[in-house]
Amino acid sequence: MGIWYSPAFAQGVGHLLALALEILDQDGNPEWRIVVPVVPAVVGVAFALVVVLAFAGSPAVSMTSEAPPAELVAMVEPAAPVAEVALVAEVAPSLPPLNGRRIEASLRSGENLSLLFQRERLSAADLDGIVKSGPIAKRLRSIRPGEEITIDVSDDNDVTRLAWQADIWETVEFARVGDVYEGRELTRLPISKRGIYKATITNGSLFVAATRAGLEDEVAMRLADVFRWDVDFITQVRPGDAFRVLIEEHWLEGELREFGPILAAEFTNRGLTHVAVRYENGNAGTIFFNPDGRPLRKSFLKAPLEFTRVSSPFNPSRVHPLWGTRRPHRGTDYAAPTGTPVFATGAGRVTSAGHTAPNGNYVVIRHSGGIETKYLHLSRIENGVKRGTSVQQGDMIGRVGSTGWSTGPHLHYEFVVDGVHRDPVAVELPKSEPIPELDKPDFLRVTAPLLANLRAPDETNPQLASAFGED
Ligand SMILES: [Zn+2]
Repeated sequence: MGIWYSPAFAQGVGHLLALALEILDQDGNPEWRIVVPVVPAVVGVAFALVVVLAFAGSPAVSMTSEAPPAELVAMVEPAAPVAEVALVAEVAPSLPPLNGRRIEASLRSGENLSLLFQRERLSAADLDGIVKSGPIAKRLRSIRPGEEITIDVSDDNDVTRLAWQADIWETVEFARVGDVYEGRELTRLPISKRGIYKATITNGSLFVAATRAGLEDEVAMRLADVFRWDVDFITQVRPGDAFRVLIEEHWLEGELREFGPILAAEFTNRGLTHVAVRYENGNAGTIFFNPDGRPLRKSFLKAPLEFTRVSSPFNPSRVHPLWGTRRPHRGTDYAAPTGTPVFATGAGRVTSAGHTAPNGNYVVIRHSGGIETKYLHLSRIENGVKRGTSVQQGDMIGRVGSTGWSTGPHLHYEFVVDGVHRDPVAVELPKSEPIPELDKPDFLRVTAPLLANLRAPDETNPQLASAFGED
């Protein structure tokens, strides 16, 4: 049954205060990050590629990655190719013409290139030449209003070059060669680096801490995803919890453009440190393991809701306004908006799904090992979820509501082992199967350098920090 109390106002004020503290903390106590250049082997490939491009006549190709100094080469194991890092060189932006002028333009709403040329008093014949230059010109039809178009014009008002920035990685360019235009597609390849980010959570918000460390919300969500079998990010994150992430970064023209995959991470929750390292495990795909080679994936998720959907970071008070304080509370209450999806925390079979006065709409799932999970006060039960339905971990079984004996939208979740209610966060679950012995040497070869990267740069090694610190 639901015993729930929502001091919404107090919580709101508390949250605002916490946010304010977090902002103050930002000034006094800046978090840091370090960028480790890509492994030297990749840099070597990059250099070779740049040389090839240069000889192929590509103008103004530059290489902005620097080879790491010898000390770091020793630390960053070259035998560890980072998965999916193939993009290593970048094309520098073209320089404005020596004679003539450069027009930075874009289509207005409802405009096409022809109207743009009229507006800029450029030659229709030049546009015609560009459009008839070959198959690449067909791509110009997909220019959308607002996208960046660069037009170089000679002193005689002839268009010498037209370039359209198709996206951050690609430029479609038409350059005048004699009397005709030649089109080409220039793909700018980002430089991959590894970044290390760390932060201590000061107010219970992973997002605030991640932002302070220089990470986007999207990365914070991925980080929480990595540890979702070990940490209940909704009710169990506390001030003093900390994380450290080794993540691939894609740089272009000296700017960090996007984050790639998380390569390794550490999350310390209430004094217990969980470590994850990325490893491609044949058919099982790329998943996260602990350093011993056991998958982080376990038979139960720590929480039945996505933490991003939950409004209150902490467990609501155990005090129930209707029943007073003496009523024992079994389970965990998650305050969340009505309609928030509720997931089965583990695979199993539905033993009961329906409605009772105290429970409201509820679902009970039986799992192996004498474990049962219960989900109460749902606004609705998912279609097809009824007695006998088998469910997989993460399947949506219903939505948060406030049906039954409940004072506001929340999910009451219970984890029962052999008929005894247990704290789902504290309960020890059977360990997952480690990777086969046969694969262990490869696992260690690939993951050891990632873990070394994750741990090596520290305050205890200021030389490394000052050599590669970006701030
Ligand atoms: Zn409850």
